Amino acid sequence: MERYSRITDKNKREIVLLRAFPCVWGKCTFCDYIEDNGRDEAEMVRENREALREITGEFGVLEVINSGSCFELPKETLEDIRTVVRLKNIKRLIFESHWIYRKRLQEMRDYFGIPVTYKMGVETFDYDFREKVLNKHADFKTPMEAAEYFDSICLMVGIQGQTKEMIRNDIAWLKKYFNHGTVNVFNNNSTPIKRDEELVRWFMEEYQWLLDDPDVEVLYEITDFGVG
Ligand code: SF4
Repeated sequence: MERYSRITDKNKREIVLLRAFPCVWGKCTFCDYIEDNGRDEAEMVRENREALREITGEFGVLEVINSGSCFELPKETLEDIRTVVRLKNIKRLIFESHWIYRKRLQEMRDYFGIPVTYKMGVETFDYDFREKVLNKHADFKTPMEAAEYFDSICLMVGIQGQTKEMIRNDIAWLKKYFNHGTVNVFNNNSTPIKRDEELVRWFMEEYQWLLDDPDVEVLYEITDFGVG
C-alpha cells in the first residue's frame, strides 16, 4: 500500500492516503476501499505519522484522503497534519467530505487556519442512479445545491446501468457549476457493481479533451494519484 505520493501533472501537490475510523455512511454499493478504515486508533495514528513524515511542502499544497471523510480522521492525526502544515509551510489543504458533513466544513478551515478545498463524491447528478443504484446517501437534487457547499466534486463513469446521457449531463454540470473535478473511471472491485467496457471506451474517446482540462483530473485507474 502506497500512502504518499507527489502529483506533478495538473494541480501540483503532495498527497497522503491516511487511515481513519469507519466511513460515516459506509454503504455505497460500489465501494470496497472502506476496508482501509479501522478502529485501532493508536495503530492508525502511528501509520499515518509514517506517511506524514514524507511530506516536504515543496508545492505548498497537501491533499489528504482517507477512504471516507476527513472528519473521521483520528484527533491526533489532525494534530499531526496541523504540525506538518506549520512546519512545511503548507498554504492549502485538500480534504474529502461526504455530503452528510456539509454543515461542518468550516470547522477544518478554522482548525487549520488556511484555505481548505473539499472534494465531495457526487458520482452522478442523476438522482435515481446515485441514490438507488449507488446508494450514495447524498440527497441533493440539483448541482446548484451541491455547489452551495462544495467547489470540487468527484464523478464516477463507466458503470453498468449508467447512460451516455447521464455522463454528458454530469460533465456539463461539473464544468458549469464547479471549479474543480475528479472523474473516476470505474474499475471492477470486490462489489457487485460492474464496469461497462463499452461505455468506458465511448467516454475516453468522447471526452479525450478532458485530459487537457487544467481543472479536471481523470483517473483511469484508482491508483492514478500514486496512492492506494
Ligand atoms: S461515502 Fe465514500 S468511503 Fe463511504 S462508503 Fe461511500 S464511497 Fe465508500
